[in-house]
Amino acid sequence: MSEVQSVEIRPEEIMDKLVSLAKRRGFVFPSSEIYGGIGSCWDYGPLGVELKRNLKDHWWKSMTQKRDDIEGVDAAILMHPKVWEASGHVEGFTDPLVDCKKCKMRFRADELKGDRCPNCGGDLTEPRQFNLMFKTFMGPVEDESAVVYMRPETAQGIYVNFLNVLGPSRQKIPFGIAQIGKAFRNEISPGNFIFRSREFEQMEMQYFVKPEEDEKWLQYWRGERMQWYLDIGIREKSLRWHQHTEEELAHYAKAAYDIEYDFPFGWKEIEGVHNRTDFDLVQHKKFSGKDLSYFSTEEKKRFIPYIIETSAGVDRTALVCLADAYHEEVVRNEKRVVLRLDPKIAPIKVAVFPLVKRDGMPEVALKIYHELKVHFKCFYDESAAVGRRYRRMDEAGTPYCITVDSQTLEDETVTVRERDSMLQTREKIPDLVKVIEEKIRFWGGRAAERCS
Ligand code: ATP
Repeated sequence: MSEVQSVEIRPEEIMDKLVSLAKRRGFVFPSSEIYGGIGSCWDYGPLGVELKRNLKDHWWKSMTQKRDDIEGVDAAILMHPKVWEASGHVEGFTDPLVDCKKCKMRFRADELKGDRCPNCGGDLTEPRQFNLMFKTFMGPVEDESAVVYMRPETAQGIYVNFLNVLGPSRQKIPFGIAQIGKAFRNEISPGNFIFRSREFEQMEMQYFVKPEEDEKWLQYWRGERMQWYLDIGIREKSLRWHQHTEEELAHYAKAAYDIEYDFPFGWKEIEGVHNRTDFDLVQHKKFSGKDLSYFSTEEKKRFIPYIIETSAGVDRTALVCLADAYHEEVVRNEKRVVLRLDPKIAPIKVAVFPLVKRDGMPEVALKIYHELKVHFKCFYDESAAVGRRYRRMDEAGTPYCITVDSQTLEDETVTVRERDSMLQTREKIPDLVKVIEEKIRFWGGRAAERCS
């Protein structure tokens, strides 16, 4: 439409706009907000929870349901404290912490540009190592022997269950174990909204391979994981790989790549695809005394598998989706905010409206709504002018709005409005489920934009 003009938004403005949209439309709120919030924990509202659920479902489907070689688990958050000794977290899961002697603010030394406080220019203390694991006590006595940790990653729950899954599933190497769950890190400098928080969710998959095939599978999983972000509609130009340098590599890793996204605050990691070698299983074998090796019946030999890990954050991915989808336009001299989310992950797929609240239109619209909501997450709205209702759905990222008008009463057709183009087609009521399903399946809005 020629009357539509995109509005350029400066990167430094986008985060404020996203935080405000998230609050206004019910995506994300600060945790315990009525008490002033708590350092970097976030609550997901009605739309946010749908977005997160769609992301997790899409990940789970593509990583487990559609494959024969990956099994799922859901391990406990609290694990035996020895797990974290074996994994190296008790000793080494630390960040260097510095305090400003003047304003008392705290920073991660490795994130600072100079050697002065970025807030007030004051002197900084010498860095000291700060362990990021949250500690708590199991049972009624709060002494050292009762210390347990809130898991800082879901991966360890997979390694310790290697044999438990291998047996009943009768998988053969190469195979993987996937898990989605909460993780907790006492981050020194949380921030950038849901990018870095102290409680977050991870989607991790550990793929067990023959040691000599590690490089092949690392490259395979790099390809799969990058494609996953393209499949949820993220623009290719906003994604890139970062290969860890020798200095950046974790002590256990042989090679590591991060998928990075071009956030308004710079290129940052959203997922790691790492070759962890046999480090994890060797360590757990040593600390538990259990033989975590694998016997290959074809080769008649026993070995400790190597692990290729794919580790993504649900919250970071949600932020990527919001940041990538946020658009402002001027349509016939009026500003329109639109979240161009891929319909697969949009919280609400279809909104149903009567054009006006009379002449039997609400009754027809409600009937359509009740039929469609069996198939899609739908929303019914009859308040305010229809233009206002469209705008509210544009901000929520709802890809399709169905409107019942006076013609509906004559010929049983309705308008279906597409969010990004705002174009409307007329469809027959009995065809709606099929029409919407096909539109979602063949949605090409962002793909087209990617190629341009
Ligand atoms: P960073 O360097 O940003 O701290 P990391 O290298 O410590 O990240 P990993 O340990 O590789 O992160 O965790 C895997 C994924 O988990 C990250 O790519 C990210 O998506 C997510 N993640 C890690 N820490 C946080 C956090 N504090 N808040 C939200 N998501 C996180």
